[in-house]
Amino acid sequence: MDNKTEKKILLIDMNSYFASVEQMCNPALKGKPVIVCGRGRTVVVTASYEAREYGIKTGMTVPEARKLCPNVNIVYGNLDKYIDTSLKIHKIFLDFTDKVEVFSIDECFMDVTDVENYYGGAENIALIIKRRLKHEFGLTCSIGIGPNKVIAKLAAKMKKPDGLTVITQEKVKDFLEELSIEKMQGIGIGKHIAEKLKNIGINTAVDLGNADLMMLTGFFGKLGWVYKNIGQGIDHTPVRNYYDKSPIKSVGHSHTFPQDTDNIEVIKSYVLMLSEKVGERLRNYKMAGKTLCIFIRFYDFSYIMKRKTYSCYFNSGTEIFKKSIEILDKNIFPLSKKVRLFGVSISSLTRITTQEYLFEDQRKNKKLIETIDEINKRYGEFTIKPLSMKIAENFGIIKKCGVLTTRTWKK
Ligand SMILES: [Mg+2]
Repeated sequence: MDNKTEKKILLIDMNSYFASVEQMCNPALKGKPVIVCGRGRTVVVTASYEAREYGIKTGMTVPEARKLCPNVNIVYGNLDKYIDTSLKIHKIFLDFTDKVEVFSIDECFMDVTDVENYYGGAENIALIIKRRLKHEFGLTCSIGIGPNKVIAKLAAKMKKPDGLTVITQEKVKDFLEELSIEKMQGIGIGKHIAEKLKNIGINTAVDLGNADLMMLTGFFGKLGWVYKNIGQGIDHTPVRNYYDKSPIKSVGHSHTFPQDTDNIEVIKSYVLMLSEKVGERLRNYKMAGKTLCIFIRFYDFSYIMKRKTYSCYFNSGTEIFKKSIEILDKNIFPLSKKVRLFGVSISSLTRITTQEYLFEDQRKNKKLIETIDEINKRYGEFTIKPLSMKIAENFGIIKKCGVLTTRTWKK
């Protein structure tokens, strides 16, 4: 690829984002060790760089963090605040181009190929962004620039905090030569995959790129092909336009329990709550689906995923709940270990027309559901809720359920 057609892709990764936003909002925390953790959970979600100097890391328990730094400031995370700040940050990127793709709450891709000449090159754009983030928000970021998304993402990881790493196409080979498999995490190669790869003698990105495709697909199915491309630094996926709405493929919710549990009544109550939420969102989108997927993460981070496709479309919470319980009873209960997180999602979606409700009882049910939705919309989530949701409520906060987000690297 010559220089003219070489793409310039940026990945902007905010540094210790949640902790930095907290420091931005509360100047008393500036320059001090801060950890952000979820309410009710005793695990560190993000640590400020000052806290990291004491050896505090994401995933540690709060008592462990306190042991390392007794004066550490503990802040309970506020997702709304972080999302709000992210949206404001995106506006800076959008001043340059609409080709801004949100990768996660604190990471965005930008394709500046078409506009870099107006700003004296991609590197200069990165420097302007850094200056503005610092000046307007007091936040720092690490930016990677590469000829595609994979390389940009890997480059951004090279220097933290406040880094800027540029890898041009001609440097890609040397760059991958030195890159260990561990450093490739976050681009579709998780911890477990990294371990598996090492077990079969693949230790660097180049090893992965050179590995036999048949062998890789034998181990990882279709993903073997994706991994091989990643190992060769090949990625043709475009940076999406910020304003393009991608069609909804699935609707799901997940919830991390306030404490790990194997109490089936508690779990069922959460399943009901999540089913209601998923149903409500489907109905808001005027959609129904026929594939139900259940996801359980256990305390030791192992997980089970069960999927079933039905012949009829559905979108009521009761229906989702009933089907989820059937799957759970048949495949998962009794539990062998404690559960940390539970998720439900519906896919194989279709738009709903009135014809979907041909039968009288379905029509009545539809009217009832619509009325409940309307009241909940007006007076807040779960103003009207099934009684058995009470168990979940007593067990922990039910209002803050995260949207099930899977960060898959699309190929
Ligand atoms: Mg980050």
